[in-house]
Amino acid sequence: MVDLRRNRERMVRTQIAARGIRNTAVLNAMLKIKRHLFVDEALQAQAYQDHPVPIGYKQTLSQPYTVALMTDLLDVRPGMRVLEIGTGSGYQAAVLAELGAEVYTVERIPELHEIARRRLQDMGYARIHLKLDDGTLGWPERAPFDRIIVTAGGPEIPAPLLAQLGDPGVLLIPVGGAKRTQELIMVQRQNGTLSEENYGNVAFVDLVGSHGW
Ligand code: SAH
Repeated sequence: MVDLRRNRERMVRTQIAARGIRNTAVLNAMLKIKRHLFVDEALQAQAYQDHPVPIGYKQTLSQPYTVALMTDLLDVRPGMRVLEIGTGSGYQAAVLAELGAEVYTVERIPELHEIARRRLQDMGYARIHLKLDDGTLGWPERAPFDRIIVTAGGPEIPAPLLAQLGDPGVLLIPVGGAKRTQELIMVQRQNGTLSEENYGNVAFVDLVGSHGW
């Protein structure tokens, strides 16, 4: 099996570290995880390039820098309970698990859910829990969460996700009134108070659901 370690080293050096991400836990996770195993064999050569990669069903695995930036902003520490909406390939979930989180991830497309479930199980990620559902409803049975990351873009911040965010807690979500054009919003809850920060323009696939498109 091809390893492509040198492709990963180059990816981390030129796309992530060079753009200012210094978080060694994030850099090490992305060096370690074989990103090419999260896409179809025919696309493996593209897996370390500076752009998103198609994963079927009109969905994409995010660009490496986007994964690194969001994971860095999320400030995940070992033992945290993290909810991810939009399992997709399972790559982002694997990065979170490498940081020591207990990961709960929800996907709405049955085929993607099933492929990711088998892939992550084969890789031995016992601390990633997957659910097939509309993730805009969150995962109430497993709440509260220390961190919530949404890897698809919707028109609003889903109220159920805010309700399931712990205190202290951080929620990251691309929000935008037009499809494929969002701003990356961070919501923090601290001592019962919510505050919001805007991290600029991003372009994610649609968040589809009762609190999405
Ligand atoms: N984090 C993923 C990126 C996947 S792209 C990765 O690492 O590969 C976004 C994913 O969000 C797609 O798979 C899409 O089907 C899913 N999605 C969109 N709306 C959703 C919803 N309401 N609930 C759960 N998943 C959703």
